[in-house]
Amino acid sequence: MKTALISGGAGFLGSHLCDELIDTHQVICIDNFFTGQKHNIAHLLKRDNFTFIEHDIIDPLFLEDQQVDRIYNLACPASPIHYQHNAIRTIKTNILGTINMLGMAKLHGARILQASTSEIYGDPLEHPQTESYRGNVNPIGIRSCYDEGKRCAETLMFDYHRQHRIEVRLIRIFNTYGPRMFAKDGRVVSNFIIQALQNEDLTAYGIGEQTRSFCYVSDLIKGIVQHMEQDAFVGPVNLGNPSEFTILELANEIIRLTGTSSKIVFRDLPKDDPQRRKPDISLAKKKLGWEPKVSLAEGLEKTITYFRTHTSSFVVQQLST
Ligand code: NAD
Ligand code: UDP
Repeated sequence: MKTALISGGAGFLGSHLCDELIDTHQVICIDNFFTGQKHNIAHLLKRDNFTFIEHDIIDPLFLEDQQVDRIYNLACPASPIHYQHNAIRTIKTNILGTINMLGMAKLHGARILQASTSEIYGDPLEHPQTESYRGNVNPIGIRSCYDEGKRCAETLMFDYHRQHRIEVRLIRIFNTYGPRMFAKDGRVVSNFIIQALQNEDLTAYGIGEQTRSFCYVSDLIKGIVQHMEQDAFVGPVNLGNPSEFTILELANEIIRLTGTSSKIVFRDLPKDDPQRRKPDISLAKKKLGWEPKVSLAEGLEKTITYFRTHTSSFVVQQLST
């Protein structure tokens, strides 16, 4: 059995990745619980092949006496509220943390996959975004700690690849949603679902005409593992669902699916909020044979069921403008 280490393994995507790998790998999950939740991995703690280490990847970790074959570097808050909360820590996680994970890959001769993001395209001037597009990122704005941190992490992956021959894999994830999203993340899907379930008004920022392309978590996790386990292609590769929706369309779909009496209200648009977001996934189709299968309505139904059963009195978080 190969050993896979997942940093950020108690988070939304990380915990689904632990679930995906647990039947075929020894799994080492690392997390500092900044946005991760113990209950996301509670069911795995009794498995013999699952180890949890509470650790902040800003600090080095070697695990010299263990085998490590695969490293999935997911540790980093993904929601604007949390990555802006302590911007300097976000940069440290992306740069020092990635250097530490690359150091571990070097020590163990492991293959390492970096979870990058569509945010590296910034507020894109090319639509849809292909991997060759170099982006339109504000280097000094409130999203820069995340956007530029992730861009530097990409650079580090390729420098370690060229300089130390580390086997790297790079994915650029577009907005992904599903069960185990952190309810206090302030992200649009979790906010709207919680608001709808509580019959509160749904808060669209700006005039709600900005777009996002929402990928259901099970589709994304398959793409991550497929990219890690193929031998021919380093990346970067976009992983996301190319169906594009305005925020108002998303709000109306959630209102329809929940049957809520909520209305849509408008709030100020946060600074540097990208206007359009849609992945070109031709490369993922060609190189990985991957494309998402779950429609927005189907994925939202499952996510609504999760929030219905797991939440009673959540308070929705709003991003300050
Ligand atoms: P999440 O916030 O649920 O998970 C991140 C996890 O990393 C949490 O468990 C958190 O506690 C942990 N973490 C943060 N800083 C850490 C540190 N310094 N040391 C150890 N653990 C730390 O977010 P997510 O949605 O699961 O995102 C996972 C990864 O995917 C992130 O790297 C994110 O940038 C990337 N990503 C996610 C999306 C998305 O839509 N969910 C989109 C693009 C990229
Ligand atoms: N958004 C919104 N209402 C909310 C939360 C978010 O209209 O309650 C908008 C936000 O301004 C952005 C989009 O929804 O345009 C997606 O936001 P999210 O935080 O989910 O992800 P990101 O901006 O990182 O893509």
